[in-house]
Amino acid sequence: MTGPASGGDGTISWRRLLDETAAITGRPQARWLCEEASGAFGDEFLEVQSHAVTERCIAHLDAMLARLRDGEPLQYVLGHWSFRRLDLLVDPRVLIPRPETELVAELAIDLARSLAAQRPGRPLPVADLGTGSGAIGLSLAAELPRGLVDVWLTDVSPDALDVARANLAGLGMAGAGVQFGHGEWFEALPSSLHGELAVVVSNPPYIAPDDPEVAPDVRRWEPALALFADDHGLAHVRTIAAGASSWLRPGGWLVLEIGAGQGSAVADVLRDAGLCEVAVRRDLSGRDRIASARRDPGEN
Ligand code: SAM
Ligand code: GLN
Repeated sequence: MTGPASGGDGTISWRRLLDETAAITGRPQARWLCEEASGAFGDEFLEVQSHAVTERCIAHLDAMLARLRDGEPLQYVLGHWSFRRLDLLVDPRVLIPRPETELVAELAIDLARSLAAQRPGRPLPVADLGTGSGAIGLSLAAELPRGLVDVWLTDVSPDALDVARANLAGLGMAGAGVQFGHGEWFEALPSSLHGELAVVVSNPPYIAPDDPEVAPDVRRWEPALALFADDHGLAHVRTIAAGASSWLRPGGWLVLEIGAGQGSAVADVLRDAGLCEVAVRRDLSGRDRIASARRDPGEN
């Protein structure tokens, strides 16, 4: 891969630069990169196709191509990526939000909505533990009607919380009830929430450190803290399940993203923690992907 227009004299059009970039990266990536370099997205980019590209934009495009050439994931190179309705800032301080995690967020949103319908009144406290970019928790805040939930975003990584805070800024008024906690899993939350949480959702690190199937670019570029967990990938799931059994309110739900093949082991962990209505869902490719469980509604 080499820069398509380095040393250009500023007279190339975006249409031509797009074609030249596509010859290097393929068409969809070229479109994303040229939109980013031009600052014109979607229909706006179509409108600038005949415009001359400035030296500054060419330099920006060349810099992005150099990073891609080095193997850096496209999402980090662009600096943002879409997740459900949000366009999230992402960089190597956080995991790149995955499409399968959109289903985790959806289940948490549905469960929060139905709990709120059963008990209208004060906003329900919900927590996204290990929030990274804020993808899951900010989706709850953005998609649920205002005043329905108070969302807590936590992470052990101060860097990740900085990214999540920056993403909160993009939410406008929908982000009004969002709060942050720094620390290990439930320890990041104020003790006043103990026994009060309506929904706890988490995409914890669940990959065994020696898993041979982890893609080399994932291992090289994404934060190890976001990916790997001891005990065959289940160490954090155990901690979260144990905490959920007392931090959830009776009837509250825990929703976890899990790894392919972890369904039955995670279901055992959830039952051993005393949770009920344990269920494992698969994704479209038939792999275990989400585990959910509930604190017994009759428990006090
Ligand atoms: N929620 C984001 C998503 O779904 O895209 C990021 C998930 S990433 C797989 C796991 C997150 O858990 C990372 O942001 C990582 O920093 C955080 N994490 C790792 N160990 C943790 C711990 N002991 N306590 C709290 N968060 C932790
Ligand atoms: N789905 C991510 C991957 O396969 C892993 C995320 C996680 O450990 N929670 O790279």
